[in-house]
Amino acid sequence: MHNKISELLASQRTFFKEGKTKDIAFRIEKLKLLKSVIEDHETEICDALYEDFKKPKFESVLSETAFIISELDYIVKNLKSWSKPKKVSSSIINFPSSDYIYSEAYGACLIIAPWNYPFQLAISPLMGAIAAGNTVILKPSELAPNTSQILADILEKVFPKEMLAVVQGGVPVSEALLAEKWDYVFFTGSVPVGKIVAKAIAPHLTPSTLELGGKNPCIIHKSAKVQLAAKRIVWGKFLNGGQTCIAPDYILIDSKIKKEFIEAVQNEITAAYGAKPKNSPDYARIINEKNFDRLAAMLEDEKCPIGGDLDKEQLYMAPTLVDEPALSSKVMEDEIFGPILPVLSYTSEENMADTIANYSKPLALYVFSEDKHFSEKILENYSFGGGAINDVVVHIVNKKLPFGGVGTSGNGAYHGRHSFDTFSHKKSISKRGTWLDVPLRCAPYGDKISLIGMLMKKF
Ligand code: NAD
Repeated sequence: MHNKISELLASQRTFFKEGKTKDIAFRIEKLKLLKSVIEDHETEICDALYEDFKKPKFESVLSETAFIISELDYIVKNLKSWSKPKKVSSSIINFPSSDYIYSEAYGACLIIAPWNYPFQLAISPLMGAIAAGNTVILKPSELAPNTSQILADILEKVFPKEMLAVVQGGVPVSEALLAEKWDYVFFTGSVPVGKIVAKAIAPHLTPSTLELGGKNPCIIHKSAKVQLAAKRIVWGKFLNGGQTCIAPDYILIDSKIKKEFIEAVQNEITAAYGAKPKNSPDYARIINEKNFDRLAAMLEDEKCPIGGDLDKEQLYMAPTLVDEPALSSKVMEDEIFGPILPVLSYTSEENMADTIANYSKPLALYVFSEDKHFSEKILENYSFGGGAINDVVVHIVNKKLPFGGVGTSGNGAYHGRHSFDTFSHKKSISKRGTWLDVPLRCAPYGDKISLIGMLMKKF
């Protein structure tokens, strides 16, 4: 396996050196072709996602295929202007000079993707890498094998292997890939595996983006529109069977409105999935038995005012609320990553802050409040990847917003222009004029110190 990977990588390095990916028109042509192949195979992609975890077709179009196509259009439209050297004002000290930032492809990139949005989270970074002129080896997740296969089939139609290749497999394949020297590594997955990746690439000091996870708080202030909050939270939490890295992980709610909120959540679950969500065509399943068991263990000894029904054979877990779990409980230990929503009430802002302080910087944070002062205070006081006021998950849709974590929830960001920038080294260049040479910086320094000091401080 190691030899095959090394050979593939060597062929990509040769292809990169030949300079074909430097041609912007070539990149645009490939991205356009990618779009048309995705459009042609949209049904098969949705079928594969359904096979993998019964992902409803509506959710597949919304969060995987249409999501990607819209971003592809945006990248294609803007790539020429993003790729141009960007002129910046120059320093008077360097007069005469004109200064530029050049965007330069890193070279050979490795992208490792997770299973939960197995199409989107593989293709989205990949189009940034291609747009910036890199070559790519993509390793999709072995836990969504049908989607991994369709990814391989589609990408093979668009790209020669020397430019982009899909290498399928589990941990040993991932380890073999990480043993190589890369010019850039983009990893999406869990915090523990993120640490393994960071360690593996450290000997080469390889630049990277780590898109990880965390325990995302969703704060509901007493001023919030409770019914609307419940509706939006039910959508964002139970979408994809609750297996969304930016889904609200737990609710922190003012104790005065908790009862009203729980009733509203029950109504919204019934409105969305019917009295028996198991029979709903709009509700996904848990990806595998291992995750099912992990999630089921979180419900032991907990009070579930809503849901709690399990069917291991069908990998079904009902949309479930857990009422006031202890911070030491399994459900409050780590990121849940499933359709379980703990509801914790607070009686004061200090009380609320104490709960959030138990966890490291999350990937997302949400606030429901009609009190703008309260929302702004939360934004000022907490560090987290990104989030929303009076909604959940939706910030991911805006291509102009960089998407990424902070601290243990990840580093680096992408989407839209940020994807292009992530996969480009920014090379700073001063182009000096030769018609004049002010000898201010050169010895003998004599009494030039006051003039240079003044110029440096002022400009
Ligand atoms: P994971 O970390 O188990 O796996 C991710 C990828 O890493 C897979 O391709 C897998 O094959 C590979 N991998 C697993 N173990 C490895 C090892 N020991 N060495 C090398 N590679 C290994 O994550 P997952 O279960 O696929 O996805 C769920 C996690 O991903 C959650 O924690 C979630 O929050 C996070 N996530 C983050 C984002 C984001 O954008 N920040 C998006 C989706 C998922």
